[in-house]
Amino acid sequence: MKNTYFTPGPAELYPTIHQHLQRAMDEQIGSISHRSKQFRDLYRFMDEQLRTLLAIPDTHGIFITGSASEVWERMLLNCVEHESFHLVNGSFSQKFYDYANALHKHAHVLEKPFGEGFDAAEIQVPDYAEVVCVTHNETSSGVQMKPSEIHKLKRKNPKKLFCVDIVSSAPYPDLDFSLIDSTFFSVQKAFGMPAGMGIWIASEACLAKAERLQKNDTLTIGAHHTLPALWKHYKDFETPATPNVLYIYLLGKIAEDFNKIGIDTIRRQTEEKARMLYKFIESSDAYEPFVKQERHRSQTVIVATTQKPSSDVIAIGKAANMLVGSGYGKFKESQIRIANFPAVSPEQVNELINQLNKIY
Ligand SMILES: *Cc1c(COP(=O)(O)O)cnc(C)c1O
Repeated sequence: MKNTYFTPGPAELYPTIHQHLQRAMDEQIGSISHRSKQFRDLYRFMDEQLRTLLAIPDTHGIFITGSASEVWERMLLNCVEHESFHLVNGSFSQKFYDYANALHKHAHVLEKPFGEGFDAAEIQVPDYAEVVCVTHNETSSGVQMKPSEIHKLKRKNPKKLFCVDIVSSAPYPDLDFSLIDSTFFSVQKAFGMPAGMGIWIASEACLAKAERLQKNDTLTIGAHHTLPALWKHYKDFETPATPNVLYIYLLGKIAEDFNKIGIDTIRRQTEEKARMLYKFIESSDAYEPFVKQERHRSQTVIVATTQKPSSDVIAIGKAANMLVGSGYGKFKESQIRIANFPAVSPEQVNELINQLNKIY
């Protein structure tokens, strides 16, 4: 019997992936040149589908990278001359901050414990910070920051570039790209693809900054995937290096599938499934929501503290071919993490709840 993966990335593959892969093989996508018209058409198609899905305006380009964590480095190299500012409340936001230190940026941080979230009103952006780095969905702790709060923070700090990690939530967050300069995700989370490609969405303001920094010979914006190089090639729907052509094809197809369903429906279904899961863990004596403030609770990665060791809970799921994630880091043995991505249906979530209920 096949497993259903409720793990927060790699995750359950989107059901249509098989037919898209088959088609890609039939069309010999793996062998086409990345300097051919066929490739440019694939990239353009993916670009159009993502633009429709996420409401991305012409001011922003859509670029191909190796993974999301590569974008942490690209963003810092290309858009930060001296100072960045980071909201840190878990392991992924912490890594973004660590990258800034490793690149010798002057990185400011506002930290919160695991399980707590941020509201715009409590955040003071340091005067000289050039980029504000926000993690929309902290995958390690199941905390989300509402887009409305991120937008509010930008309106209070209109001169700063805003960069939002939407790796474990896209396409769920409804970001306003007139306020958000840069955002990025990997394909193995809510898009339901195998791992191996990142997408970086960046604005003309980011490009202008990168071009300015590139002229400054006291620092470097790097050599690989610089924003000016990505943008120059992007104008012709090409890439500087040989990209994962197969995955560009697949992402275009998955985004098209999402568009056929409609982004509003996908968002509503995500919220409905999240409601089912939170209702269950709140009402069961065996589980408890880790995130106490309802407004900070993730809709896409649900984290529960377990009464019994989490390995017992995970084993129960596994016996029914349903795989949930363990807690992250020091919470490995005391929590479970459940991915709520578009690839899993309300019926599958219901079945998972039935199994998790068997812990007693
Ligand atoms: C998974 C994840 C990343 C890293 O993605 P990679 O594909 O491993 O580079 C970054 N941020 C968040 C919030 C994530 O969940």
